[in-house]
Amino acid sequence: MAKQNNKRDFRRSNIPNGGYNKKQENVKVNNGVFVYNRALTVGELANELKINAAEIIKFLFLNKKMVTINQTLDDETIGLICLQFGYDFRKEKLVSEENFEEMEIVDKPEDLKSRAPIVTIMGHVDHGKTTLIDAIRNSRLVDSEVGGISQAIGAYQKEIDGHKITFLDTPGHEAFTAMRSRGAAVTDIVVLVVAADDGVMPQTIEAIDHAKAAGVPIIVAINKIDKDGANVERIKSELMNYDIIPEEYGGDTICCEISAKKNIGIKELLEAIIVVSEMLELKANPDRYAIGTVIEAKLDKGEGPKATLLVQNGSLTTQDYVVVGTAYGKIRRMTNEYKKIVKVATPSTPVSVIGLSEVPNAGDHFMAFPTEKQAKEIAFKRQLIKKQEEQNASGGMTLDDLYNRIHEGETQIVNLIVKADTTGSAEAIKSSLVKLCNEQVKLNIIHCTAGAITDSDIMLASASGAIIYGFNVRPSSLISQKAEQQKVEIRLYRIIYDLLNEMEAAMKGMLKKEIVERVTGQAEVRSLIKISKIGTVAGCYVTSGSIKANSLIRLIRDGIIVYEGKIKSLKRFKDDAKEVKEGFECGINIENFNDIRENDIIEGYEMVEKE
Ligand code: GDP
Repeated sequence: MAKQNNKRDFRRSNIPNGGYNKKQENVKVNNGVFVYNRALTVGELANELKINAAEIIKFLFLNKKMVTINQTLDDETIGLICLQFGYDFRKEKLVSEENFEEMEIVDKPEDLKSRAPIVTIMGHVDHGKTTLIDAIRNSRLVDSEVGGISQAIGAYQKEIDGHKITFLDTPGHEAFTAMRSRGAAVTDIVVLVVAADDGVMPQTIEAIDHAKAAGVPIIVAINKIDKDGANVERIKSELMNYDIIPEEYGGDTICCEISAKKNIGIKELLEAIIVVSEMLELKANPDRYAIGTVIEAKLDKGEGPKATLLVQNGSLTTQDYVVVGTAYGKIRRMTNEYKKIVKVATPSTPVSVIGLSEVPNAGDHFMAFPTEKQAKEIAFKRQLIKKQEEQNASGGMTLDDLYNRIHEGETQIVNLIVKADTTGSAEAIKSSLVKLCNEQVKLNIIHCTAGAITDSDIMLASASGAIIYGFNVRPSSLISQKAEQQKVEIRLYRIIYDLLNEMEAAMKGMLKKEIVERVTGQAEVRSLIKISKIGTVAGCYVTSGSIKANSLIRLIRDGIIVYEGKIKSLKRFKDDAKEVKEGFECGINIENFNDIRENDIIEGYEMVEKE
């Protein structure tokens, strides 16, 4: 009994809604746009739009819809009403338990405690990632760590000088991007391993680009310094070509010189991680129901679905019910990397759990709830949402999307990945593309290298909504399939100009259409007739182009514009004319203007969208 009370105390239960804050319902008029995220009745909508409910009822009645003031309106009707009463409208997603990954977690500053950084190790193949992971795992830094880690759960924690660090076990950027493409921002810091006897290689660059795209700071581990050919300075200067400027050269990237194999510099690397993590001021609230990400999962023959959960905020206990992806379950047992039972997993702690109803996917989000009823309900709603989402799946971006976004925001940022046959052409394409940028469209080249289009490119594209531009490269059918699944567009070219022209065309499509003036023609005033009630009618001769009845005009006298306005009537003899062409005579009466003189020029013009 006492134990249970402890559990309750642990929560301190001062957070509403069972430990997480829903994003508030939002219904408001903002800059002429009616923004809402929930169902509304006629009365409520009238109130928000500051109009009389009777006006809405009348408007709908005239549109053959009978409603009462307390009736709930569907989105289409809300849109119609907004437009009718002079508002634009936008429906936002209501963020609630069902889509907890989108929930904005708001913790009171006083509830926040420092949490351990979560670190991913990346780098080129054979540069020593696995060796480094093992070296860190097996390093005996504090006496309390009896023996090495006994269970591979995809992540583990290390402690140095009283600070914990969480390492994700899977080296390479596949895991990193796979997570990110599922919307899971897990990593706080990337350790980039570069072999001192080799240098910056394609996957090094990829890793840099991945980290940058995710906005995650990099610590460089220059590895294999024990080797004969090791040249640390060369690595540093190569890295500078990719905007990774070491501290000693005035930049802000810490470079550690290590030998993963000989266990040199590992402690210093860990210390550097602590330094960077302190700058990041990573915090979480241990006193809320846990929220986090699945690191890995499998079906265990004896124990059923087994998953490693990384708690990112809150604390997970064996009393909790969790929703993971679309599954739910009660945590039956939690263990850490030493196979030790864990009762409470605080922020940044990875734990292996059993008790879930299905095997989730790596990268799935999870959230804990106090009751089974709640967890079950939410899992069920999530299943429905997932089904709907699968029906209208979207991933990367297509050129068509670009066109379609024409009228949306101000500056459009287009993420691109460029893969070319040689480094030279990759660089050439990159610099030409950069030149295409203008005020309204910014091309953001998140990754640009020589080489074939890979799995990792597709994932990066999917994660960042990028288009892949391939130059003299061809994706394998497997890669094409993947791209299709992830809805990533790959565009292939053999001639640089084709690539640039198409990009430029797409960008033009994206540009907000500029409205420009186009002169249709000019007419010379040759005689004047004053008619009572109508005013002055100018007898004109069209000297160029044509004058149209519905066009705008300006009156020019001795080269100076004396009036701008509209034509009231355009006549050929006694009849109204729509248009009078060059070489013909016509009578023009200008709306609200009678001071016309002989030899004035009437110029017709219209406003058109510029290409
Ligand atoms: P990964 O592909 O990046 O995971 O690289 P591995 O960790 O598998 O290492 C590739 C090779 O480099 C292995 O043969 C390692 O033993 C070797 N290696 C890794 N770190 C060092 C080091 O610090 N010094 C030396 N001499 N060899 C290393």
